Amino acid sequence: MQNYIKLSTLNDFIFCPKSIYYHNLYDSYEKKLYQEEAQIAWSIAHESIDNKTYSTSKNVLQSLDVYCEKYGIAGKIDQFFTQEWKLVERKNKIEKIYLWYKYQLWWQMFCLEEMWYEVRSLEFYSMQDNKKYRIYKPNIKELLAFEEMLERYRKYDMLQKYFQQNTQKCLKCIYRELCDYFIWEVYPQMQLFSDNENTKTN
Ligand code: SF4
Repeated sequence: MQNYIKLSTLNDFIFCPKSIYYHNLYDSYEKKLYQEEAQIAWSIAHESIDNKTYSTSKNVLQSLDVYCEKYGIAGKIDQFFTQEWKLVERKNKIEKIYLWYKYQLWWQMFCLEEMWYEVRSLEFYSMQDNKKYRIYKPNIKELLAFEEMLERYRKYDMLQKYFQQNTQKCLKCIYRELCDYFIWEVYPQMQLFSDNENTKTN
């Protein structure tokens, strides 16, 4: 088997390339030590899938290891309902369907299809509010964008000097307290902003 890219690493890459480093660093620690409320809730809710105890039906494949040679990616799927040919990814609470959410289902689908499973429908399930979101298969443009993203991942140099990230992402990031970018770039700007606010009101 060639060197494959873990689907969880691609998730990290899309959120922020730097987070791959911190994810690997934290991997050896107990998750509850660094996860925030939302992630802990998600982990607890997701336990039955990870332990393959969500359903006892033989028609539901759970937490199945999958691999796609064409794209060199591998990971796990949440659930595949074999009678409906339906692939489902469960999330704690879905506020909005981001493009990278869609990528998650698409690359799981690529893996399953290469393993000779027919995937007829794709769905997200938002556990907290019990909502389902149907996702369509990628069109040619989306497929090319996905392939370009994989190419960017392969070429990405973690040691490159220039780096910029959306501040809003950093503020939501569970690794921010250890991240050099947050400490040296984002945090000082926040301080400056709050100092200016204080000066205005004083
Ligand atoms: S704090 Fe910002 S730059 Fe650092 S890993 Fe998180 S998102 Fe990336």
